[in-house]
Amino acid sequence: MARPDLHDRLQAQRELRSAQGRIRVRRSVGRRDGVRLQLDGRWLTGFCSNDYLGLSQQFEVVAALQDAAAREGAGAGASHLVCGHHALHEALEREVADWLGYPSALLFGSGFLANLAVQQALLGEEGDVCVQDRLNHASLLDATRLAGARLRRYPHLDAEGARRQLAHAPEGAAMLATDGVFSMDGDLAPLRSLTLVARMQQALMYVDDAHGVGVLGPQGRGSVADAGLGVAEVPLQLVTLGKALGGHGALVVGEERLVRHLAETARPYIYTTAMPPAQAAAALAAVKLARRDQWRRERLVESIAAFREGAHRRGLALMASETPIQPLLGGDEAAVMAMSAALEQDGYLVGAIRPPTVPEGKARLRVTLSALHTAEQVAGLLDALARARDAVAAAAVATAAG
Ligand SMILES: *Cc1c(COP(=O)(O)O)cnc(C)c1O
Repeated sequence: MARPDLHDRLQAQRELRSAQGRIRVRRSVGRRDGVRLQLDGRWLTGFCSNDYLGLSQQFEVVAALQDAAAREGAGAGASHLVCGHHALHEALEREVADWLGYPSALLFGSGFLANLAVQQALLGEEGDVCVQDRLNHASLLDATRLAGARLRRYPHLDAEGARRQLAHAPEGAAMLATDGVFSMDGDLAPLRSLTLVARMQQALMYVDDAHGVGVLGPQGRGSVADAGLGVAEVPLQLVTLGKALGGHGALVVGEERLVRHLAETARPYIYTTAMPPAQAAAALAAVKLARRDQWRRERLVESIAAFREGAHRRGLALMASETPIQPLLGGDEAAVMAMSAALEQDGYLVGAIRPPTVPEGKARLRVTLSALHTAEQVAGLLDALARARDAVAAAAVATAAG
């Protein structure tokens, strides 16, 4: 038996990515100050971070991290079930459960791990199925594979499609999982229809609200609360700490017996070191600010409206999003990359998102807004976007002419 040479295979794959212009490089940020980022020694205005409320460098959040680190050190020392579970973890779980109006919460090292944990712990017997929106986050899709359940996808936002998939699934346990706010499109899942489908089809409804919590709904309680729903309709949901809450980590909030089952059986919970207690202290401070500071959400709403209105006036094609995620669809990957480069020349950092993160032919600039952006910065970005579009179009005409 001759095995394939792994290095040869990787080399061929890399050459293919290179031919497609899809080599990914990391850029390192030298310094960060609010929405400003220093890259290669130059300060740029960033419209690419998920720090929607501007909490990651907020004074009280950083002070909480420093104080707790001074007392408790840099790490938890062990997993939660050994001796790493700290009173600060517990306080954070209680605060988030109270904020969202859920009975229980469980803290995880990251949202990716939490999504793996939920499906691994709840699904995986013969005939179990997880029905998901086609554009769900990669971690939700990967989780079904880890769980050993069947994955069935429905067209984006299509509750009737979800119903059909559930109705035709085998007779095992079923979960209906969706992003609350879609991370690359910024649009909202039809949660009221989906929760009805889940109830009729006896599926467990799970909402990944990584981009909704802190931003949407009363007191920033997220997509589920924004839709007028709660634990009765959505027995489990994911809250991440790395986006609007400006930190790192995630919680699953839910019905007590489901959350207890996760704590006792989820491998991505049990076999990993607990979050540093100081990080939990920072998150606790951030959650309190997110609950209290309505002005951060008001500023965001103003920026979103100004951005959309200004883009419309300049003939920039937007997607149907009312959230801080405001993508500009480019289609052609080369044009999107060229626009991103032109924006950077002009002093703005905007993420260019390409397949496989988004479907083929759907490359885009992913503009994200923060409560810290000023009206001048938003207006400056709009002008820069229009200039970049015109420059890229002119270059395309020149190339075609020959
Ligand atoms: C970012 C994200 C995650 C992963 O969360 P991390 O804490 O960054 O690992 C999960 N789901 C969605 C929808 C996300 O956007």
